[in-house]
Amino acid sequence: MSEQVARAAALDAADELAGIRKRFVLEDEVVYLDGNSLGALPANVPGHVEDVVRRQWGELRIRSWDESGWWTAPERIGERIAPLVGAAPGQIVVGDSTSVNVFKAVVAAVRMVGDDRDEILVDATTFPTDGYIAESAARMTGRTLRPVTPAEVPAALGDRTAAVLLNHVDYRSGRLHDLPSLTAAVHAAGALVVWDLCHSAGALPVGLDEHGVDLAVGCTYKYLNGGPGSPAYLYVRRDLQDRFDSPLPGWNSHAEPFGMRPAYAPASGALRGRVGTPDILSMLALEAALEVWDGVSVDAVRAKSLALTDFFLECVGAYAGEGRVETLTPVAHAERGSQVALRCEDAGDVMKRLIERGVVGDFRHPDVLRFGFTPLYVGFSDVERAARVLGEVLSGEALR
Ligand SMILES: *Cc1c(COP(=O)(O)O)cnc(C)c1O
Repeated sequence: MSEQVARAAALDAADELAGIRKRFVLEDEVVYLDGNSLGALPANVPGHVEDVVRRQWGELRIRSWDESGWWTAPERIGERIAPLVGAAPGQIVVGDSTSVNVFKAVVAAVRMVGDDRDEILVDATTFPTDGYIAESAARMTGRTLRPVTPAEVPAALGDRTAAVLLNHVDYRSGRLHDLPSLTAAVHAAGALVVWDLCHSAGALPVGLDEHGVDLAVGCTYKYLNGGPGSPAYLYVRRDLQDRFDSPLPGWNSHAEPFGMRPAYAPASGALRGRVGTPDILSMLALEAALEVWDGVSVDAVRAKSLALTDFFLECVGAYAGEGRVETLTPVAHAERGSQVALRCEDAGDVMKRLIERGVVGDFRHPDVLRFGFTPLYVGFSDVERAARVLGEVLSGEALR
């Protein structure tokens, strides 16, 4: 038995989150390291969705808007997400996609700071949708969009800065950006910050309230396991809510949605971020999925996430030939999210072979292997196996 196999067994035995894996539908033959793209299915979701469809929709029909709590689901589910991102109640609403919420947040931020600031900064390394949406938001609000890397943000800030859109964790490299200090720098310049939490929520503490974040968005189908296309969320800090002027003021965010008035008057609070009729099936699947977090501390998740990625890097070092892969993910814990990105020649082919052998990560163009470590259902023996299979695939004998 290799040293790594023995270490994996010891780490699994000491893992206080090991029992949570039973809350998911997973096969023992597969090592699923793509939960940073699509989280695994929580075991309680199918039964819940069946009830929503057959009873709530099939039998109660229209009554369910009230009796099954459909109408208030966006705020109610927001309250379940709130503790996972360090937000007090009343500041998060669920609905729409991350892309749409980026649009709402960036335009609303620009409207809040006033007309004398004419520049929007965006993370130049961002997941593309954020950049595309920010560009359109800038065009619509008559601002200039300036792409800068997160490291360049402090020097780029100034009197002209209206808003800054940043990713908490880089989707490609897995680099964790310094949310507290970047938020403070944006505030010192008199601007507002929008954080995209897609790759951090559910993997590490975010501390939205603690660090005074203005606006934040995130998806729920990655580390929050809400299912394909499950609705995203929007956080608006409480003291900004009265000034939140949505660019998509749909009737669901009206102060009196059933008044059917010709003139718009916004509701107060987080639900000002709502737009139209919520996608109830996805939303209620997400609500059930969030039950896997009952009794789970985000700090314990973070501790295990770092242990998993540390151990993966150690095993890759032991199993993969010298110089065959290059680690893009920072070694320093303070700069690491919950994934490991490895640069590798023929990364697309390598990932195909890994998946054939039951190790599921993903490939990001042009040469990146991405492995996501979801502490709720990935164990240390999974990590050891993934690295061992990677080593075999990379070694000449395994390649055709
Ligand atoms: C996954 C992800 C998205 C996804 O946006 P959708 O609107 O849900 O497709 C957006 N931004 C970042 C940073 C992401 O990682």
